[in-house]
Amino acid sequence: KIRTRIAPSPTGFLHLGTARTALYSWAFARHHGGEFVLRIEDTDVARSTQDSVDQIIAAMNWLGLGYDEGPIYQMQRLDRYQAVIDLLIAQGKAYRCYATPEELDEMREAQKARGQKTLYDRRWRPEPGKTLPTPPDGVKPVIRFANPIEGDVTWNDLVKGPITINNREIDDLIIARTDGVPTYNFAVVVDDWDMRISHVFRGDEHVNNTPWQINIFNALGAPLPSFGHLPIILGDDGLKLSKRRGAVSVMDYAANGYLPEGMLNYLARLGWSHGDDELFSAEQMISWFDGSHLSKSPAQWDPAKLDWVNSHYVKHIDEARLAELVVEQLAAKGIVVTVADVQAKIGLFKDRCATVAILADWLSMYFAPVAPSAEDLATHVTDSIRPVLKALADRLAALGEWNKVVIQQVLKETLTAAGLKMPQLAVPVRVVVCGRAQTPSLDAVLEHFDKKKVLDRLQSL
Ligand code: GLU
Repeated sequence: KIRTRIAPSPTGFLHLGTARTALYSWAFARHHGGEFVLRIEDTDVARSTQDSVDQIIAAMNWLGLGYDEGPIYQMQRLDRYQAVIDLLIAQGKAYRCYATPEELDEMREAQKARGQKTLYDRRWRPEPGKTLPTPPDGVKPVIRFANPIEGDVTWNDLVKGPITINNREIDDLIIARTDGVPTYNFAVVVDDWDMRISHVFRGDEHVNNTPWQINIFNALGAPLPSFGHLPIILGDDGLKLSKRRGAVSVMDYAANGYLPEGMLNYLARLGWSHGDDELFSAEQMISWFDGSHLSKSPAQWDPAKLDWVNSHYVKHIDEARLAELVVEQLAAKGIVVTVADVQAKIGLFKDRCATVAILADWLSMYFAPVAPSAEDLATHVTDSIRPVLKALADRLAALGEWNKVVIQQVLKETLTAAGLKMPQLAVPVRVVVCGRAQTPSLDAVLEHFDKKKVLDRLQSL
């Protein structure tokens, strides 16, 4: 059975890179009718928080990445890790190491001085014919894995292809610290084994850990999963995407008015392709995502492309849902309105909006005071145009009906009477009534206003 997992460390929000790994793991499991597990790697007790777990789960839910098992917490599995460690020690596949940090520093310095790679010299490893030192009093040991000394570790990476590492390159890994808490490379193997994970997708930064993990799987007699290491995501500056270089939290994008459909679609293409397809649904991704066509080269985070993808969904999702999201965005700006207030208005603007936040920004002119820029006022609302705006207000006030046909008529009458062309009148009206110099068709924009608000703004000059 195909089983995948996402194994975030709960030390912050759901990072975009982790979200992409989660998406691929999820889509791969769904594609094969398998299962997807959420595991919380919380062994870094000092930095792990429940708040972070909650945020990660909220982000997974927002993206629609449902998991079949979990969250499973590593810190609730300490007994299990201990049992496996005891077993490995009993089998001579792991051992206690009493070397102090100072001793190890000394060892590394000496290796460096000889121009050697700094590898643990196995001084506490029991070997035939070797006399071990007496364990010093009061020193708590770490547990080390007795890595094979000879031979190669080989796997066929789902992304990178065949990889081979010689065991001479890697040393006897610490699998439990002095306090008994297992290290990442050990806990991850016990977990992937116990959780019957068949395919591990994770970030590139773990590729150096995989040889150790494979050796531990083998020592345990556990079946090996397949591994796929996804290339890093670079920011526009060519450096690894990081918090310092802009938003990297999925939920920041949610707050900024991106849609889960847009995020999912954009993340999917960040390191994977299906022919020339750029816009596709989660269902299509599931039907296409079989682990092939994963890119070997780093992905480039492209905010303009994300906006383009997201704008597609702003245009196409159900308008009632879009209206609800606009209401939430407006509420975040302190503008309290109902879905009914916005629903009829969004059609006029949504085609030009990359995000729901931008759409809400457009609609705010109907519900909150507008603040035209000093520059727009100075350029467009000149002394000569003011009387024309007053005349327009008078004509609009006299209207019995309020719709774009009669509004358009009044605009035409007013500009003819003043000897102006449409833009000469329409731009100042936009600045004064809408707070900006460009809008969709003015008659349609005005139609959605309370007439009184239009008159007030035109007369407020
Ligand atoms: N906790 C690890 C991380 O967040 C998981 C790596 C893995 O998937 O094995 O990078």
